[in-house]
Amino acid sequence: MTDVSNLASVQLQPRKINCAMHGDFEAKAIQFPTFGNRTNKIIWASCPQCNRLTAEREADEKRAKEEQARQRRIEERLNRASIPKRFRNRSFETYIADTEAKQKALNTAREFAENFVEHASWGSTLIFAGDVGTGKGHLAAFAAQYVMGLGYSAFFATAREVVLMLRESWHNQNAPSEIEVLRMLTSVSLLVIDEVGVQFNTDAERDQLFGVIDGRYRDLMPTILTTNLSRKKLQQAIGERSYSRLREDGIWRQRAAAIGAIAHTKRPDLDNIVKAIKDGANGVAWKDDSQVVDVHASKQYGTPRVEVEITIC
Ligand SMILES: [Zn+2]
Repeated sequence: MTDVSNLASVQLQPRKINCAMHGDFEAKAIQFPTFGNRTNKIIWASCPQCNRLTAEREADEKRAKEEQARQRRIEERLNRASIPKRFRNRSFETYIADTEAKQKALNTAREFAENFVEHASWGSTLIFAGDVGTGKGHLAAFAAQYVMGLGYSAFFATAREVVLMLRESWHNQNAPSEIEVLRMLTSVSLLVIDEVGVQFNTDAERDQLFGVIDGRYRDLMPTILTTNLSRKKLQQAIGERSYSRLREDGIWRQRAAAIGAIAHTKRPDLDNIVKAIKDGANGVAWKDDSQVVDVHASKQYGTPRVEVEITIC
């Protein structure tokens, strides 16, 4: 048996070592036992901050490589690039924000893309709702390209393409199977579904869409939806379950909402706010709030305030 007693007998005191970047640190020694004619080997620990930075960099590189490999596999399988040609080689810089709405949309998309590491950690959902011509699809595509540049995988498809991919999986044996399509749509780091309208017109299709949205919701995977539909119409189009999933995520929603990108669906209830205003205006705007004959009210995120416009009829 090897006698370990004299190995343990060498007491090595930690000593100060200087790192050019991080200054002095206390280094402990790692002692390797002597075997045969090899000498006792002692290695002093390297700078803990350098070690941490190296480990982080390696982890980042590994993640980027894995993501790139995943993106390649996905693209090979689908045999198509995920970003439509018309959006390629264009970016946030080339987007012309000539209206306030476009500027807001640009800011939202840009912030989402630039902070994607954060959004990926909490599975943000971004819904671009609004009229045709605000370039929602362009912005969503730029966001997808941007995050791909960060080493993440992204997939961009119109809602119609998603429906077709899923339908094809039922009828065409050469197409990827439904499970493969669903797996791809739920595993890609960022999924953009553009032009969500009334494409999901059967319960089976709405169930499949829910499968995608729910899968991404559970795994905290970010999703961007663009739509020309109103909130209510969107709810009908994609189904109540999908809609409520999209509503449930947290922080990003509020930030997006703060610039008017999404609806305020949290408390307080709108009718309670209206009631408070009506009561408060008793004796000020009217003798009694029974005089109010018509109310148009809406709430949205923003600086907390109420705006009341009274028309006398
Ligand atoms: Zn160091």
